[in-house]
Amino acid sequence: MEYSIGIDIGGTKIATGIVGREGNVLSKRIYPTPSSTNKEILELLTETVDDYIRIATEKGMELVSVGIGSAGQIDYKRGKILSGTVNIKDWNNIDIRKSLSLITNLPIYLDNDANTFAIAEHQLGSGKGVDDVVCLTLGTGIGGGIISGGNVIRGRWGGAAELGHMSVNFNGPDCNCGSKGCIETYASGTGIANRMKEKLRLSNRAEFTYYKENPHLLTSKEVFVWREQGSIEAIEIIDQTIKALTFGVVNIIHTFNPSMIIFGGGLAEANSWLISEVKKSLETIGMSSLVKDVELKISKLGQDAGLIGAAYQVWMDKN
Ligand SMILES: [Zn+2]
Repeated sequence: MEYSIGIDIGGTKIATGIVGREGNVLSKRIYPTPSSTNKEILELLTETVDDYIRIATEKGMELVSVGIGSAGQIDYKRGKILSGTVNIKDWNNIDIRKSLSLITNLPIYLDNDANTFAIAEHQLGSGKGVDDVVCLTLGTGIGGGIISGGNVIRGRWGGAAELGHMSVNFNGPDCNCGSKGCIETYASGTGIANRMKEKLRLSNRAEFTYYKENPHLLTSKEVFVWREQGSIEAIEIIDQTIKALTFGVVNIIHTFNPSMIIFGGGLAEANSWLISEVKKSLETIGMSSLVKDVELKISKLGQDAGLIGAAYQVWMDKN
């Protein structure tokens, strides 16, 4: 059986493993993303790949590639990370393929982490057997991956599918991409926390005092808990999250005519009820012929999806 080394590089952690064609993950290792320089990340990747090659050789496994999914804008054709994310320091203009080719002759694949998530869910997860699938990963930010007619839509050099930066309100909050009212400002962990901070700033309620004084400690988790406890402010914030996601999903459906939309990422997995709410709201807007049959699902592969999809790129190539 063929195996591929998978590497999923995110803002807080790097997940690695040897992945079989059925999606089985062996020798999985998770590291916190080094926060000093890109050199430190590249050294970690080189050592890990070197070690996995040794393990595979010892066990007589047939390794066919190294596949990487990374946060940021990826030049898919040249195997370069163009610009990273605010969460990974110094992660710009990285020729990752060149660095790893110094230690292995295996083919090296590199794609955006939301695309590798979409590949995994399309090949082995909730979207298995479905040719038109759009994925949204809700976490610190929002990533997008589009499979149309069984192929990943990447655009000219690989920058397509930045669905988190689809605006649903031109008067909305400023987004770090330079636009306003992107769904990332409403439905990512950071977006939810930032909008709540703005509410706290204007509120005199005693229960908010601690986070008003320590705003950097406030995350979307607190907002979801306060919503459960009946806080009007938190209810309003999450209602906006559902509305923004609903309009975002309608835009996606009108543009790509998919059969299914799959939601992943920590925020969606911890709050899967959000997706049911979006589904309910969808019934009231959008072109009925397009919207009515679209399935909304949660990721089947969960936290391993990015890693499995990274490794799986070689087999997409062969399909
Ligand atoms: Zn944006």
